[in-house]
Amino acid sequence: MSLENKTVLSEKPGDINELRREIEKTLDAVFSFCGDETAFSGINPYELRKRIGSLTVLPEKGTGFDSALDVTAKEIMPHMLRTWSCNYMPHLHSPSLLESLSAELIISMFNDSMDSWDQSPAATEVELAVISTLKKLFGYDDEADGCFTSGGSQSNLSAITAARDWYCMTHLQHDVKKYGNPECFGKLRLYTSEISHFSMDKSCHMLGLGYDAVVKLPVDSTCSVDIEKAEKLIEADVRNGLLPFCIVATIGTTDFGSVDDIAAMRRIADRYGMHLHADAAYGSGAVMSSRYRSRIGNLSLADSITVDFHKMFLLPISCSAVLVKRASLLDCFQLHADYLNREEDEEDGYVNLVGKSMQTTRRADAIKVLFSFMARGKEGYGRIIDTLIGNADYFYSRISSDEDFICPVKPVLSSVVFALKAGDSVNKAVRRRLLNEGIVIGQTVMNGAVMLKFTLLNPRLTHEHIDALIKKIRKYGGR
Ligand SMILES: *Cc1c(COP(=O)(O)O)cnc(C)c1O
Repeated sequence: MSLENKTVLSEKPGDINELRREIEKTLDAVFSFCGDETAFSGINPYELRKRIGSLTVLPEKGTGFDSALDVTAKEIMPHMLRTWSCNYMPHLHSPSLLESLSAELIISMFNDSMDSWDQSPAATEVELAVISTLKKLFGYDDEADGCFTSGGSQSNLSAITAARDWYCMTHLQHDVKKYGNPECFGKLRLYTSEISHFSMDKSCHMLGLGYDAVVKLPVDSTCSVDIEKAEKLIEADVRNGLLPFCIVATIGTTDFGSVDDIAAMRRIADRYGMHLHADAAYGSGAVMSSRYRSRIGNLSLADSITVDFHKMFLLPISCSAVLVKRASLLDCFQLHADYLNREEDEEDGYVNLVGKSMQTTRRADAIKVLFSFMARGKEGYGRIIDTLIGNADYFYSRISSDEDFICPVKPVLSSVVFALKAGDSVNKAVRRRLLNEGIVIGQTVMNGAVMLKFTLLNPRLTHEHIDALIKKIRKYGGR
């Protein structure tokens, strides 16, 4: 069948046999890359740019499905990152649980949009049900609410917007939604760990407060915020007439997986009338593990929580949620349009989720959370989290007592930052050499020194594999 006769899904099931063939062919093409243990082909960026740059992106006459797939399979897929590889561990970038790939197909094929009930009847109800489950999972009560977002950055921006608006209304009797930032906006301050995610700075810029509104709190030897120093800093700011509106606890820092003391931060927030946000984009997954959940503390103490499902929960990008302790915090996104979310709809039970979101058109990502939660249960998910954190603990136990390595921070979640004692240039060279053979590990800087990093998000990774990697790194480091 030519592409001209074939446009979109139709009511007639007979029309879709061609689609079935195309999907099967696509699966075969993807599966042909699954036998390879490496995460990356090792091609250099100039060569890859030349090859992909020479493709005709928009030909005058289309070449058809088979040709488009062939070119993609031959020129692009071989150099795509294979997130499912046990040799991929540089970032908080996870492989996808198998069943979630089917959920993605459902989401894409129906293509529901979460802005209004008439664009996503079942998906809206799924999001409500999943949010309700998440509220309980993190210890919130019925007053809480939440909304799915495109990722942790957007969840953080949503929470900080809510915090700014709430603070200005309750402390300054100023309605930001109507009038914009208050005249004294240059005095507003957000406090966050010096190793927190850069979406804090980006959010404050986008909110018109600027990077200067972000005060970085020093961390102690465990890479968690030093509470005593934080208190002194905030106290001094208040004495100088500044206005602390928000404090952020990072529950799993991007590099170290270190966790801030949320109970202590709650006390500080209460003393100064601040909003407490928990950026648990990384650490939230630990809530599924009865063995490790105490490592992240009691997140229900926070006024808002960022949860990423495309990190420790191993769901496909994108999938994240922002939870708020009091539903009214999300009112900052409520706005009515005659063409979309009429007030009378809501009076009759048609919930339009656009009222809680900064996005309008939005994917039905909650469906894949429901799907994997149902399929695996808390127990099945818990076993996965136990494996991830257990692997980090194992790697740490192997290298912390090894004289060739330094490993300054004991892991709390599934990340381990370490280095060969041989110095910066050796560590950099080891990472490059591994990359060229398709083993992708992380690199960062700690106290001015180049460090290597394992971010362990693959539940198939074994202790034997970790042992083999240690051996290889030692060898490439000339030990
Ligand atoms: C990954 C991460 C983010 C950003 O999340 P995205 O989903 O990449 O937008 C924010 N905070 C922390 C602590 C993270 O690890």
